[in-house]
Order: sequence, then C-alpha cells, then structure tokens
Amino acid sequence: MLIEKYDIEVFTPPCEPGAERYAARVRLTADISEILPYLNATLRGAVYLPTANALTWKKGGHNVAFHAYEIATSNADDREGAEKELKGLIDLVNRTWEHRAEITPDIITRQRPTSMAIFKLLPQTNCKQCGEPTCYTFALKLTTAQKKLADCPALMEPKYTDQRAGLEAIIIEAPAIS
Ligand code: SF4
Repeated sequence: MLIEKYDIEVFTPPCEPGAERYAARVRLTADISEILPYLNATLRGAVYLPTANALTWKKGGHNVAFHAYEIATSNADDREGAEKELKGLIDLVNRTWEHRAEITPDIITRQRPTSMAIFKLLPQTNCKQCGEPTCYTFALKLTTAQKKLADCPALMEPKYTDQRAGLEAIIIEAPAIS
C-alpha cells in the first residue's frame, strides 16, 4: 500500500464564498510521484506534467490534482461528498500501485480533448440510444469519464468506422484499474 496514513482537510474554496461547494485535500507523508505515470496510463483525460510532478484529471464534475505529497479534489455538494471523493482517490492510487506490474507507465503529456472535438466525431443524430438526450451531452460525459465510447451503439455501425477510429485516437478508454 502506497498511502497508509493521511489527514483529510475539507474546506470551501476562498474563490467561491457562499457558493456552498466543497473541496478536499490530503497531505501525504509518502511521496507518490512514482505512481503518476501509471495513473497517466490508465485515467482517461488525465494530463501529466512531469516537470511539475503533477497530474490533473476530471472525474465526473470534480477537478482532481495529484502532486508528490498531496491529492486534492473540488466541486463537491457537501462535506461528506468531498471526503468520500477523496477517499476514493486514495483507494485508486493504492489499487494502481498494487497493479503497477500490469501497467506500462506513460510519461507523455497529452492535451485533454475538448467536448466539442469529441462531438464533431460523433454521429450527431441525437438518437438517444446512449441514454443521453443529445450527442453533445454524451460528448460532455465522455470528457469526464462518465460514459465510454461503447455506450454509443451508433458508432459501431460500419459507416462510422473512421469517426470511431478518430475518437479512439484521442480518448483513453476506461481505467485499467477499477
Ligand atoms: S447513441 Fe451516439 S449517436 Fe445516439 S445520441 Fe448518443 S452519442 Fe449521439
């Protein structure tokens, strides 16, 4: 286990007074720098910055940041939600650490694809087979890992083969560690 001891701090960001959104961070006694390339290889849409020893990621509506001695998340509805989210991230780091022998670490810094870039490659028929009202809503959820490419059945049709290949090129699919 990489992270064993930690103290979680939950707070309201000073830039959002009265917004009633909550952030949380945990200061670590262990340096987790070594795990960042493994997270970069497995988290869809992660942006790894080796020179800063940092990795950022969007998970649902949360902005997540991993640093050598700190993990932080933002935009939770309440204190309990912020704490639960952060504990989930600590578990993710520990699970990834346990499975690191099965993962090829990745040190490439990628641009996170925008929802518009994804939308342009979707069928744009708003057929709702994915459970979303529009293709753009689906694109938004793809960028935050709330949906997978396979959730769009239309993309499996032969006429969308090129578009699917384009999407596969810019989107890292679901985390290898779950
Ligand atoms: S299933 Fe695909 S084509 Fe249909 S609405 Fe969802 S994203 Fe658009």
